[in-house]
Amino acid sequence: MAQIQGGQQVLPEGSNRVLGRDAQRTNIAVGYAVAQIVKTTLGPRGMDKMMVSEMGDIIITNDGATILKEMNIEHPAGKMMVEIAKTQDSEVGDGTTTSVVIAGELLRKAADLLDSDIHASTIINGYKFATARAMLELQAIGEPIKVSDTENLEKIASVAMGSKTVGVGTGKDVLAKLVVSAVKQVAEQRDGKTIIDKDYIKLEKKKGGDVLQTQLINGVLVDKEIVHPGMPKTVSNAKVALLDVALEIEKTEVDARINISSPEQMTAFLDQEEKMLKTMVDKVVKSGANVLFCQKGIDDVAQHYLSKAGVLTCRRVKKSDMEKLAKATGGRMVTTLDDLSDKDLGHAGSVQEKKVAGEQMTFVEQCKDPKAVTILVRGSTDHIVDEAERAIVDAIGATTSAVEDGKYVTGGGSTEMELATRLRKYAVEVGGREQLAIQAYADALEVIPKTLTESTGLDAIDTLVDLRHKHEQKDGKYYGVDIYGLKVGDMKAINVIEPLKVKKQALQSASEVTEMILRIDDIIASRGRPQMPQGGGGMGGMGME
Ligand code: ADP
Ligand code: MG
Repeated sequence: MAQIQGGQQVLPEGSNRVLGRDAQRTNIAVGYAVAQIVKTTLGPRGMDKMMVSEMGDIIITNDGATILKEMNIEHPAGKMMVEIAKTQDSEVGDGTTTSVVIAGELLRKAADLLDSDIHASTIINGYKFATARAMLELQAIGEPIKVSDTENLEKIASVAMGSKTVGVGTGKDVLAKLVVSAVKQVAEQRDGKTIIDKDYIKLEKKKGGDVLQTQLINGVLVDKEIVHPGMPKTVSNAKVALLDVALEIEKTEVDARINISSPEQMTAFLDQEEKMLKTMVDKVVKSGANVLFCQKGIDDVAQHYLSKAGVLTCRRVKKSDMEKLAKATGGRMVTTLDDLSDKDLGHAGSVQEKKVAGEQMTFVEQCKDPKAVTILVRGSTDHIVDEAERAIVDAIGATTSAVEDGKYVTGGGSTEMELATRLRKYAVEVGGREQLAIQAYADALEVIPKTLTESTGLDAIDTLVDLRHKHEQKDGKYYGVDIYGLKVGDMKAINVIEPLKVKKQALQSASEVTEMILRIDDIIASRGRPQMPQGGGGMGGMGME
């Protein structure tokens, strides 16, 4: 009998197994602990984390996804939580902390339900119902927004950057304006839809100056200098050739031997080489180009001829930059020199080499309706530049999501509060055991206004009671936590709005990971894996309330 029951016998010696309720408890505790780590960073009054890598590199950030990525969490359930932050980041680019914090709270509520002997599959079912209903309610709460709605987009950008250090004060407004101009510039209409390819907003970081000196370049900033000192440093009305061909004499793979027996032969050989290079340059010049970006190398002799012809040239330009140059100037990347003609050339009002923080860079600007732009991110230290970049990435993500999805909601916990109110009513309609799980889900959503309140030092219980009351009223759906006014307030009136998609994705991934974790009733770790914490002993040690 013992052999039949004991699953351990089939596993290799040294493997570690946790079963049933213990497995659930372990995973829930780990998931919750991960959420607790990022929780204090939520919102504009959230705190920052300082992360020190094994190599001693320091990152100071408020970004949920970045914190979790840098932590190298080992436990599988913890890793699942990190995954949702990553998904949130790549899908919508904002709301990472929110999704992880909600997942943590869903897990905690599930632990309570498990304790009252409600089966995991009932909880999972209830959570599924609640998520589906929440999606419908969100769609109903959301209000329309278009790419032309600059004012609201700037509010969204500004809220998305709000919790990063750079986002405080005037920096936020300046960056929000830049981001919205950038997003609007690269937006394209396709089949009646607005599409924004975020890859065409290039972020170039340069330490030095001030965050306020961050600028938008309506074109591409190439981190390369002009190859030859004799070339012009500035070209206006640029006709830009984009080449993916080396302007060099190809060295053959085969071992070739050339016998040269007289100085004349030597000169003839070199002349021949030079001629070939000149022919190449002539082809570029003949196309009418006065600016050349080359993805490959350019021989010194070719550089000399280009310089004589007055062609401003950069070489070894990154492939991704070449693509952006094509988008911005309307030029076409050419892979065979013989094909190059004036039709392939792009246009830019100005191409200019400028010094930024002691380094030469080439600015391709004043392009006509460029579908690729660059934001040159500045800041006095590396940490500030990095955090400014993360803030800008969040803002680009948020505005893009708002435009593509076409809807926004109010922030400051107001939407979570409204959803909670609506879900509680829905729970009663559903009834049965699932009712408890749906109620738990509704309660879990309140963790967002609660955490935002805690970050201000206000009393969380009083605030939640007040908010619940407001949301019971007919026109109460905009009420949330006014972080700066230190009171409950109308979020729409104080311009705290967010893309609907961020909320949808955050809820979806939070409930998915919760279901996945709850479904596990057996953890089998093979030998060599780090020892997993044993569950079952309650979660006191994990700091659960
Ligand atoms: P996430 O990684 O989830 O985006 P953030 O730290 O950016 O986390 O915080 C987002 C939360 O802060 C959202 O719930 C948002 O509504 C709220 N928030 C942002 N700015 C304000 C503000 N000015 N007043 C109230 N709430 C705000
Ligand atoms: Mg955010």
